[in-house]
Amino acid sequence: MAYELAPLPYDYSALEPFIDTETMHLHHDKHHQAYINNVNAALANHPALAALSVDDLLRDLNKIPDDIRTTVRNNGGGHSNHTAFWNLMGPAGSHGIGGAPTGAIAAQIQADFGDFEAFKKAFNDTAAKQFGSGWGWLVFQNGKLRVMSTANQDSPLSQGLYPILGNDVWEHAYYLKYQNRRPEYLAAWWNVVNWAEVNKRFAVAKG
Ligand code: MN
Repeated sequence: MAYELAPLPYDYSALEPFIDTETMHLHHDKHHQAYINNVNAALANHPALAALSVDDLLRDLNKIPDDIRTTVRNNGGGHSNHTAFWNLMGPAGSHGIGGAPTGAIAAQIQADFGDFEAFKKAFNDTAAKQFGSGWGWLVFQNGKLRVMSTANQDSPLSQGLYPILGNDVWEHAYYLKYQNRRPEYLAAWWNVVNWAEVNKRFAVAKG
């Protein structure tokens, strides 16, 4: 069963002015679709692998045949990462979107980082320093939250870690509006973070 692109859970303009409408069209309809097309093509002759969820594929890359492993890592990673990313955002000012964290993740952030400002700084610094294309992540490891980054479309799932929160720092995610000003994009992005979804993913990460 080939993977399919789900529609955005909100309008293309819903993240304005922090993420612009044109970026959302290109990012979702073109970039995410391309990752899906590429991973589907790679798995076309591997029905047993294609039957797995994309997250399960990424959890054990060693089970992917050599000749398609890099394609699956990059494009399956792209599919998984972007699926999480769309759902981790929502219209600024809506209930539970932007502003301070809520629920269990708020308490864990306070315990592990001191306060929300310190957490945002740690996350943004890590994402800003990722050289070239990649992602900034929040994961839960050994009972603590940790910020990390990966290159390309590498998923924390391939390191045995479940991504709780992730921000895309490929230039395609921000260049039309922010050009080379990645830190400005990183700072603005917190206005559209969906804390209910973060809490849902935190519950999964805790197991
Ligand atoms: Mn992207």
